[in-house]
Amino acid sequence: MSFRQVFDQYNWEQVHDDILSKSEADVIRALEAPRRTLEHFKALLSPAASPYLEHMATRSRHLTLRRFGNVIQLFAPLYVSNECQNICTYCGFSMDNFLQRKTLDETELLQEARYLKERGYDHVLLVSGEANKTVNPAYFQAALRPVNPLFSQVSLEIQPLDESDYRMLIDEQLHSVLVYQETYRQDRYKIYHPKGKKSNFYYRLETPDRLGRAGIHKIGLGALLGLEDWRTDSFFTALHLQYLEKTYWATRYSISFPRLRPCAGAGADAAQPASMITDRELVQLICAYRLLNQEVDLSLSTRESSHFRDHIISLGITSMSAGSKTNPGGYSVAPTSLEQFEIDDSRPPEEVARMLSRKGYQPVWKDWDPVLQKQRG
Ligand code: SF4
Repeated sequence: MSFRQVFDQYNWEQVHDDILSKSEADVIRALEAPRRTLEHFKALLSPAASPYLEHMATRSRHLTLRRFGNVIQLFAPLYVSNECQNICTYCGFSMDNFLQRKTLDETELLQEARYLKERGYDHVLLVSGEANKTVNPAYFQAALRPVNPLFSQVSLEIQPLDESDYRMLIDEQLHSVLVYQETYRQDRYKIYHPKGKKSNFYYRLETPDRLGRAGIHKIGLGALLGLEDWRTDSFFTALHLQYLEKTYWATRYSISFPRLRPCAGAGADAAQPASMITDRELVQLICAYRLLNQEVDLSLSTRESSHFRDHIISLGITSMSAGSKTNPGGYSVAPTSLEQFEIDDSRPPEEVARMLSRKGYQPVWKDWDPVLQKQRG
């Protein structure tokens, strides 16, 4: 069984209506439940939970400290290419945007990697657009070989691949893969992804299954918050997480919370948020995930403001990017090339680390279990 069969049993509208119909009594039952279910999660996501936010935040903070301690993992994205054969209506790298395309060669890639290493990072996330002629499995195999020895972990956020390609990259010590569904609303998915391989909803939906079967150490999930109703998309993300945890129990998981951001190059027809998620609602969502699941890593990127990030870290987050550049070569090779999206928290990593220390957190520059991961190959 793959997640597709689970997913096909659900109806978007029905889930949406269920969430909105939750009452305060449902929220109280969810808060008091010894083991929370996805029905409880719906209540915690619902508007009825808003008056209980402080209570949820206190519980979330307590559960996170108990499981993860006062540690926040830091990582940096390293954009290797802005070439892309897809049209995504919300992204600066979309094929129909006119911009100079750039793919790092091995020398440039190593220059960027060494720049990040010198700044203390020990976990790097290689990111690229989806262009199979240039940034294909062979490119990443060649990239992992020189970059891997520099870091405790190297992760990927690239086009979805076949299972055999993932196996080959795991043999190269690949640590984890992030693959966001963007939206689980199937009937509108194609509006945002009209052209290219990404328009295949089910191929993307089944990517975590292929990763799980290939034996990856960790999988990152998420929805692009704002494309469609964020509550319903978050329910489906949690459903996906629950299925994966039961099916591929040796794999670890993370959830990210990308909010739709402005991007350069996008025209007037660019996707506008269908359902803005406010700061307060994002706090509610993060706490709801933690109350549902005490094991999952919760990750926040530099899309968010420094003010918001500084205040949210103690409520459930366990990892963050810092000092990010979202253009290929953006750290040291080509600092002026076009970004994928605008970042908000532009502080250098040392400043983020100092902020964490001031708040009583230990910044850790890598993911968990590096020794175990290095032994897998
Ligand atoms: S979101 Fe990814 S696949 Fe879509 S245009 Fe941007 S880089 Fe390409």
